Amino acid sequence: MKRVGAHVSIAGGVDNAPLNAAAIGAKAFAMFTKNQRQWHSKPLETAQIDAFLQNMESNGYRSSDVLPHDGYLINLGNPDSDKRKQSLDAFIDELQRCNLLGLTCLNFHPGSHLRKISEDECLTLISESMNRALDQVQGVTAVIENTAGQGSNMGHTFEQIAQIIDKVEDKSRVGVCLDTCHTFVSGYDIRTIETYRQTMDKFAEVVGFKYLRGMHLNDSKPDLGSRVDRHHSLGEGKIGLDTFRFIMNDPALEEIPLVLETIDSSIWEKEIKLLYQFVE
Ligand SMILES: [Zn+2]
Ligand SMILES: [Zn+2]
Repeated sequence: MKRVGAHVSIAGGVDNAPLNAAAIGAKAFAMFTKNQRQWHSKPLETAQIDAFLQNMESNGYRSSDVLPHDGYLINLGNPDSDKRKQSLDAFIDELQRCNLLGLTCLNFHPGSHLRKISEDECLTLISESMNRALDQVQGVTAVIENTAGQGSNMGHTFEQIAQIIDKVEDKSRVGVCLDTCHTFVSGYDIRTIETYRQTMDKFAEVVGFKYLRGMHLNDSKPDLGSRVDRHHSLGEGKIGLDTFRFIMNDPALEEIPLVLETIDSSIWEKEIKLLYQFVE
């Protein structure tokens, strides 16, 4: 079964996420576990964790249906060692929060070289940070999201993702999340069945399908290869609806979270319905 959902709000507490997901007919969802724009947040309280678990269960969500997203400030490849340490500490805290919520994955953006070190050096720093974090927290898989390649962000080619994974010691706890907008604007065409297959085959060959833990379903405002990260509602951007039809009929994408991060949350319920209508 395809597990489609959206990145839902945690306003009022993380325990609201499963309720917000169920309200739009989601069979999977993404969420932050803290304020994504701040370094520090209050620790999760036991009552909140219990409420989250209860809402997960009563709405039929398994932990594998949730792909939490880390905060926006974290840069595991920061060339400055003090700032990298701050990111590492924040990332470890995020992994621990996932653990407390019974969640087994954490989606993150690999990092940026900030034009101060080479791409290779940055990728190595990211792998090393991942090794230290995974050492500290058991039970959670670090899921690398492919990026749009905007600015000095790494992880916009499958080769870069493979290079990060190559230096991660515990390969059983590393995964990948493919964002359709990022895939497209970083230069991989997915608009026709031929180009979609070519791109997925390329991912399988360079990275490996066994690492794929989820996808973000977004149309794109900018064009192919623009390396600009601007999501759009499905069918409204440069990718078009066909791609989402291919995804909904791709047998390789069963049972993993397929998460909308499209710009108009008021139509997520409609977009989820539309996606399920695509299943042949
Ligand atoms: Zn992301
Ligand atoms: Zn994304």
